[in-house]
Amino acid sequence: MMHLAQIQRRIAQLQQQLLELGPLHPGSISEQYNVCGNPGCRCKDAKKPQKHGPYYQLSFTWQGKSSTRFLRPEQVEEMRQKVANYKRLRELMNEWVGLAVERERAERAKEKHHRGD
Ligand SMILES: [Zn+2]
Repeated sequence: MMHLAQIQRRIAQLQQQLLELGPLHPGSISEQYNVCGNPGCRCKDAKKPQKHGPYYQLSFTWQGKSSTRFLRPEQVEEMRQKVANYKRLRELMNEWVGLAVERERAERAKEKHHRGD
């Protein structure tokens, strides 16, 4: 079990990391390759079809509503970073909540010890 001081120190670190988190966005990015309607196109080649793409898509669910939108190639890198930051936010939050629960437990154990029962 962690000591109260250790828990407090770790929570302070997490709070600092949360403050330093950059722009974020929920979701995930996927790559797609498509076939077009042009009969003579390279994407319809019988031997070695070369599909069009990649096309990048961001999919996410927020407040119960699912959304998908296409990203221009020049938007992909920035969105990857935002999605990574969102994932990091969730990890930091989970750890903070876990520590809050542990802290409560440690405080109760300490009180119990002081009361001597
Ligand atoms: Zn095509």
